[in-house]
Amino acid sequence: MAESSTTTRQPMRYLSGVQSSGRLHLGNYFGAVQHHINLQTQGECLYFIANYHSLTTIHDGEQLRKFTFDIAADYLALGLDPQHALLFRQSDIPAVTELSWILSSVTGMGLLERAHSYKDKLTKGIVPNVGLFTYPILMAADILIYQSDKVPVGMDQVQHVEMARDIAGYFNQQFQKTVFKLPETLLSSTPKVVGLTGGKMSKSDDKSVLPILGDSSEIKKRIMSIVTDSKGVHDPKDPDQNPIFLLYQLLATPVEVQEMRAGFEHGGLGYGEAKQRLFLKMEEIFGGSIRTRRAELEKHPDWVEDVLVESAKKADLIARATMEQVYQVTGLRSWKIK
Ligand code: AMP
Repeated sequence: MAESSTTTRQPMRYLSGVQSSGRLHLGNYFGAVQHHINLQTQGECLYFIANYHSLTTIHDGEQLRKFTFDIAADYLALGLDPQHALLFRQSDIPAVTELSWILSSVTGMGLLERAHSYKDKLTKGIVPNVGLFTYPILMAADILIYQSDKVPVGMDQVQHVEMARDIAGYFNQQFQKTVFKLPETLLSSTPKVVGLTGGKMSKSDDKSVLPILGDSSEIKKRIMSIVTDSKGVHDPKDPDQNPIFLLYQLLATPVEVQEMRAGFEHGGLGYGEAKQRLFLKMEEIFGGSIRTRRAELEKHPDWVEDVLVESAKKADLIARATMEQVYQVTGLRSWKIK
């Protein structure tokens, strides 16, 4: 007679982080944050504010604290519900840096030297510190310590998630035990959002950034400063090379997008008018109730802090369970410590 078996399916665990090195921008939102918020009812979600990562570029305690608060408050204003998802500070789980060292002991230099994001930063003339070079190992520790199944990120992070997978594989193989799950990347439908200057929108290039919850005069000023060519209102223009159109199509309805496309392609729509439409869409989507909620949170930093602290306590339990296995297989811990 066949044995009846009852299997309980574990919920999918999603893990992602955002650096606290500036306000959330439209690239963060459409590449990652909107996706994070949508996933919060579909599994177990852990989102952290990557302040250890930000420390590679920000060396001002007050500023790092402020950016950390801003990212947390932005997430909450945009709809992250702490009843459904954890939102915590990376540095509140110090075992992450401990694991990072342990993982660095099984990671070859060659793997890090192939990192596109590191090579891009060198090309931009950034003088790297060691933290910037070993960033993918810290990110691997972030992902692996929580035994994450899926990592919802933008395109620029795909290689780093693959590295986390590789590092998990090396570790499991070296110590002959499957301690870490192999995580998978999850991309949103818009994983690479263009910046105001035509390249990728990125916190490391302030001119490229369109903040989503800044004050409306700053948002307007940034949109109005998008550099365009000298084509007049009636000249045909290529919408697909144009950040105004590319950003507008993320926000507007299909009919509105089609109208802007036609106006550019056939002439009749000038850059000034198109910028105004983009600004009004930003206001329609991120102004109103989201801006009001964000202003409320600004007045209640204690509440935001409580969310971070309480979430960290729960994330810490998961991290500790993983670290127990790590101590066990590596032989790092005294056998007298239970
Ligand atoms: P960061 O601000 O670099 O910590 O990025 C936080 C998240 O936003 C990561 O998942 C990134 O991949 C994503 N992201 C950042 N910039 C963009 C962009 N321009 N387009 C799409 N996703 C982005």
